[in-house]
Amino acid sequence: MLSNIKVKLCFLSSVNGTSMYHYCELGVLARVSLCLSLFLSVAKADPSIEFTGDFIQGGIVIGRVQPDVKIHLGERQVRVSPDGWFVLGFGRDEKPNVVLNVEYADGTKHQETLNVKARRYEIQRIDGLPPRKVTPSAEDLERIKQENALIGAARNRDEPRTDFLSGFDWPVIGRISGIFGSQRVLNGIPKRPHFGVDVAAPTGTPVKAPAPGKVTLVHKDMFYTGGTINLDHGHGLTSIFIHLSDIFVTEGQYVEKGSVIGSVGATGRATGPHLHWGMNWFKARIDPALLVGNMPDQQ
Ligand code: ZN
Repeated sequence: MLSNIKVKLCFLSSVNGTSMYHYCELGVLARVSLCLSLFLSVAKADPSIEFTGDFIQGGIVIGRVQPDVKIHLGERQVRVSPDGWFVLGFGRDEKPNVVLNVEYADGTKHQETLNVKARRYEIQRIDGLPPRKVTPSAEDLERIKQENALIGAARNRDEPRTDFLSGFDWPVIGRISGIFGSQRVLNGIPKRPHFGVDVAAPTGTPVKAPAPGKVTLVHKDMFYTGGTINLDHGHGLTSIFIHLSDIFVTEGQYVEKGSVIGSVGATGRATGPHLHWGMNWFKARIDPALLVGNMPDQQ
């Protein structure tokens, strides 16, 4: 546990065009047990903002400012907690430069460009899927549209809770069988990328909440995702768990980190039992693997 350890980190900052190193004591930030490698490329121009995380496609950055500061990322006004915490997320195909606008209580404004590191994504071919799950009928498409609307609404919430500060643990320990961002070719047909991380595990393996959160969607049988749970960690950061064989939570329920919320399965569009864990910051697709670090050894 990092909670009682004072971590001294080195931030590269640029003041008046001159690069300098700026040391921060991160007593509270250390509780955000993000993978330490995420701290590597932390850059900031405004010395009053502390950032933790990596400016990279599929990544999140947790920031801290004075609570009365207003933050905009592009067009979106970003929620700032009463303690000054906020989250920024960068999608799979985020452009290399995004503009952050900061407005202080006294009306002073500051703008900076965040450089978001690009990633290269793999191509993953999966064969042997039922043809209906790759090329759905008109009737299936109508069902998919309705289910996507439910998922979209769950991702669009901007809850004031800051559950994301607890850091994230793997919900299931197992072999990683699919990674974030891969361009997918299903039964030989190019499809949209894979937005999550897959962990292979036997049907019935408990799925644990990687961080605290509020259950905002439960569905036993969606067309693509089968047994589905959406968990809201606050400030637009959500997790989705899919292909579940069993679900032990209900909508509106608040769960602690490590609570068993469901079981691994192969429901929906899956070739075998595994957990697919996806994350979003509103619409932006986030790579959960960037938040948890290496998969622990399997016993
Ligand atoms: Zn998956």
